Amino acid sequence: METIVVKFGGTSLADANQIRKAAGIIRENPARRYVVCSAPGKRSREDVKVTDLLYRCQTLAEAGEDFQPALDEVRARFEEIVRDLELSFQLDVEFAIIREHLETRHERDYMASRGEYLNSKIIAAYLCFPFVDPAETVCFEDNGELDTERTNHRLFAALAPLDNAVIAGFYGARCDGVIHTFSRGGSDITGSLVARATGANLYENWTDVSGMLAADPRIVDNPRRIEYISYQELRELSYMGSSVFHEDAMFPCQRAGIPINIRNTNCPEDPGTMIVASLPRILPPRQITGVAGHKGFTSIQVEKALMNSEIGFGARLLKIFADHGVSFEHCPSGIDTMSVIVHGSALAGCKDKIMQEIREQLRPDALIAEEHLALIAVVGHGMSYNKGVAAAIFAAVSDAGINIRMIDQGSSEINIIIAVEEKDCENAIRSIYSRLAED
Ligand code: ADP
Ligand code: ASP
Ligand code: MG
Repeated sequence: METIVVKFGGTSLADANQIRKAAGIIRENPARRYVVCSAPGKRSREDVKVTDLLYRCQTLAEAGEDFQPALDEVRARFEEIVRDLELSFQLDVEFAIIREHLETRHERDYMASRGEYLNSKIIAAYLCFPFVDPAETVCFEDNGELDTERTNHRLFAALAPLDNAVIAGFYGARCDGVIHTFSRGGSDITGSLVARATGANLYENWTDVSGMLAADPRIVDNPRRIEYISYQELRELSYMGSSVFHEDAMFPCQRAGIPINIRNTNCPEDPGTMIVASLPRILPPRQITGVAGHKGFTSIQVEKALMNSEIGFGARLLKIFADHGVSFEHCPSGIDTMSVIVHGSALAGCKDKIMQEIREQLRPDALIAEEHLALIAVVGHGMSYNKGVAAAIFAAVSDAGINIRMIDQGSSEINIIIAVEEKDCENAIRSIYSRLAED
């Protein structure tokens, strides 16, 4: 039998009306056997996600402040869903347990996970599917890393005997039973893990846009939908800010060769975006597949005459960052210059120490830290065989009157990264999009 794993995001399950739409999509095709659910998201632009309300409860409880009004808001969201779906689901017991946790323990991940836990239990009751708790099937190591193989075995053991199931997204547990969550948006990862474990033919990720768009729709008006994208291109774009799909979520599906289809719960007739290992040859060649940007980077630029002949210079420079637990994003270098680009937040509390150690150990001629940079990734397989793409990117940025602070081309030749000042990020994206990605 064909198996499709479906994951519905927060806006797709924000209230009873949205849950009914999701249920319609699930029932329409019996192959949609396993359903991964997020917590209720925003019902309108101004609304608050249940996950954010739960984090708020936890913060208030830890500060010894009154968390009851925030918890009442969470409860009201679920009461409304249960009532509108005409279910007889008992929320009293669940909220007594949550309240007790808030009063007696400080477990932030546990609290954040309750949105997915409750929503999935309610949706399981509505669909008449069994509920599978990832606390028993998605396994984390004590250091917070996912234990992928144990997770794969546990999910397989739990799901293989079931024709259908609803699995809560976003969390799992360590060996000692303590709940641990993925980073924000992590239900996408749960869906991919379930697809791999069940040997699914397809992983459908249902959200509030009709697929992956060639640029962030909050920056570019009406960007083109990407029909097909490779795992590798998707990784580059989602890492750099295309937030429609969690940056780590493709790995389990990629490993198992399972295609991923991003779909719109509000327009289920739209075909969405297919994420596949390699692009179909029949597609018209495009200069680029997409563009995405991310703010908050710092560049540490080191200059020293004859750096190129000083053996181990680069290794010693990077070791200083590693010793402070800071991982680097990019490291473009010239003959006598080298820049290390890191997330600004990773330098909090250790920037001065790192600068001092670079001065002492490497004796550079010049050392500059440039903050508030945005990185923009221009991605596409077409770049490796289309001449002049790099020139067109630089022309687009310069036509917008924006200064490029750094250029780096990944060794895979499917992306060019440029750094600009944060304030120029959106304009640079718009300009690159209109020159290279518009039809
Ligand atoms: P869900 O709650 O369904 O997981 P998300 O909010 O995580 O949904 O992701 C969907 C959102 O991602 C869209 O509403 C859109 O605003 C945003 N987004 C950012 N970049 C892109 C892009 N390149 N293509 C599509 N959506 C994008
Ligand atoms: N509910 C979580 C979040 O808001 C996880 C998810 O929706 O994927 O980040
Ligand atoms: Mg998401």
